[in-house]
Amino acid sequence: MSKIKIHHDADVMVITVDNPPINAGSTEVRQGLLDAINALDVDRKLTAAVIIGGGTTFIAGSDIKEFSQPLMEPHLPLVIAAIESCSKPVVCALHGAALGGGFELALGCDARIALEGTVLGLPEVTLGIIPGAGGTQRLPRLIGVEKSIELICTGARIKADLALQLGIVSQVVKTDLLANALVLARSMIGTKNRIRDIATPISAPEAIASASQKALKAGKNRPQVQKAIEMVCNSLVLPIDEGLSIERNVFQSLRVSSEAKALRHQFFSERKLFKALSESDTKAIELSQIAVIGAGTMGSGIAMACLNAGYAVILLDQHEAALSNGVKRVEQYYESRVQGGKISPAQICELLQRFSHASNWELIASADLIIEAVFEDIEVKHEVFKKIDRYAKDGALLASNTSYLDIDAIAEKTKNPSRVFGLHFFSPAQIMKLIEIIRCKKTSPAAIATGLGFAKRLGKMPIISANSFGFIGNRIYAAYRRQCEFMLEEGAYPEQIDKALEDYGFAMGPFAVADLSGLDIAWGMRKSLAASRNPAHRYVGIPDSLCLAGRLGRKTGAGYYLYAEGSNSKSIDPIVNEMIDSASRAKGLTRRSLSTDEIVERVLLTMINETAHLLSENVVTQASDCDVALVNGYGFPRWQGGPTFIASEMGQEKLDQGLQELALASGPGFVIANTDMLFKSL
Ligand code: NAD
Repeated sequence: MSKIKIHHDADVMVITVDNPPINAGSTEVRQGLLDAINALDVDRKLTAAVIIGGGTTFIAGSDIKEFSQPLMEPHLPLVIAAIESCSKPVVCALHGAALGGGFELALGCDARIALEGTVLGLPEVTLGIIPGAGGTQRLPRLIGVEKSIELICTGARIKADLALQLGIVSQVVKTDLLANALVLARSMIGTKNRIRDIATPISAPEAIASASQKALKAGKNRPQVQKAIEMVCNSLVLPIDEGLSIERNVFQSLRVSSEAKALRHQFFSERKLFKALSESDTKAIELSQIAVIGAGTMGSGIAMACLNAGYAVILLDQHEAALSNGVKRVEQYYESRVQGGKISPAQICELLQRFSHASNWELIASADLIIEAVFEDIEVKHEVFKKIDRYAKDGALLASNTSYLDIDAIAEKTKNPSRVFGLHFFSPAQIMKLIEIIRCKKTSPAAIATGLGFAKRLGKMPIISANSFGFIGNRIYAAYRRQCEFMLEEGAYPEQIDKALEDYGFAMGPFAVADLSGLDIAWGMRKSLAASRNPAHRYVGIPDSLCLAGRLGRKTGAGYYLYAEGSNSKSIDPIVNEMIDSASRAKGLTRRSLSTDEIVERVLLTMINETAHLLSENVVTQASDCDVALVNGYGFPRWQGGPTFIASEMGQEKLDQGLQELALASGPGFVIANTDMLFKSL
């Protein structure tokens, strides 16, 4: 079956891309387009052509799997060259999405017309590459260098009305896209209107420098962002064919880079998140009202996340002061959004109409989903769930936002444990993408399906975890932090470890993170686990010593670092380094210098080891979920792919050898995971 359908509307050829579901560009699509354009050129009865997408969209991107293999001919630049050298005008009619190669194809045509609501964009940089079919050369000729740098380097998607304002499309129509495109094509008969013939508008060097700096900062200075800027600037000084040829070479070399491979891995891992939802016959329960219990940091954030997704939300707290603080937090957040121009006052009005708050439990009876976010204390949670159970309607689902507590035990406090599960948000809940959905022993499939659908509507990345201490993310993070503490004891200092990991790409090093979130949280947990800790296992007492000295992090002005009053900028505190030296001495350890490579390698091996444990314990079902969790919840650099990606690049033999060495360095208590399941899952 051809992916391209052709019919003639009198003298105009209509070329329809028919490659559902997203009309992705592929070898067959490109070949079909090329054949059609060649036929158009030689057919004397034809005067023009319209390219349009079949179904719900234009070409919404390329087949990303193709990027991992040698690209098959014909390549997109050849198709675009054929359109440009064709003697007859070709109009591109856009609806749904015109992304990546789809947008580049449109830029290769003589005119573009879009249906209202169409989105356009060049998201290549998010996959570690640059547009490779002229995007960096044609877009600046239309909209200038600064705007092109902004759009290409962020991978932003813009709506048709903005595209019209910028001059990317010449018309936006409400209906009858094809009919309007045919009128446009007929109005152009006998002419050509190629973007390649336009000169890129001259920009002030300062404006280009400022747009470039902004893009590099937002794009973490990654190579594809640097290259995209360079290519766009080429359009000012080089003849288009030279610019196109350089762009293609850069695209080809970035495509096979390890960063691009890692980013493709993340892309596919994120796509797999909703697999369970699409593959299951279980129907999700329809949700319209959400009750959130506990109006603290998390409760108010969860309320905002739900309001943003269009739900009606009731926020409940038993303490009047806590409730009013929580409500204030919600209102202030939206005020700041209005001030920042992110949302209109009218939208806020609509949104706040869906928001109510209460200290009266009877009001939760109308909620379809009740999310608990009270203190992290099992007794408090048990009491709260008994209460929720008393007031919730029969069909409602009940979720806990606990970070570590046993949700099976919590569920047992209710009449119907099958409706209880975990929804572990990350702070700030209205912003962080990651959410863990905890499947307990008796949780019904409908509750899980509903949780997945709910997360999807919130725009989150849900990973499913069994009910196990620390679930997935915190479990890997705890092992990682422990390993960093081992390295402190052996000879490194906090700033050295933080710097090594930040240079690797982590948003923040582990000790800076500990200071930010407060050392007392982990301290409380260590104290609660003290009785069950095996005394033969290696235990680093440095964090406890810091806590005992009142150094709880930024909030006390001191933790692993020192913070000047009222400032978040940190400085090294020699007292901490002395505490660390004396901790090493107390254990009889001779301090040695650790290289950056050793620090990074030990951290990565630790993360892979914990991922393998989670898999063999069936806590996680898809290994790649761990990569999604670390990137979206823990500041792991997306372009490094995550632990399972790194493991697959390393190979099992090398990994197992590395884990043996890590076990020796870590000492008693470190358990080497069996990596068979991990490698089977890759
Ligand atoms: P918090 O102390 O800021 O807020 C807890 C709120 O619960 C307070 O407003 C308190 O008044 C209220 N509360 C306590 N007992 C109650 C009861 N019986 N009935 C009604 N309300 C009651 O705590 P938080 O940081 O928002 O954490 C809440 C939960 O979310 C905890 O289980 C925590 O482990 C989890 N969590 C926290 C984070 C985080 O970064 N803070 C991240 C993920 C999960």
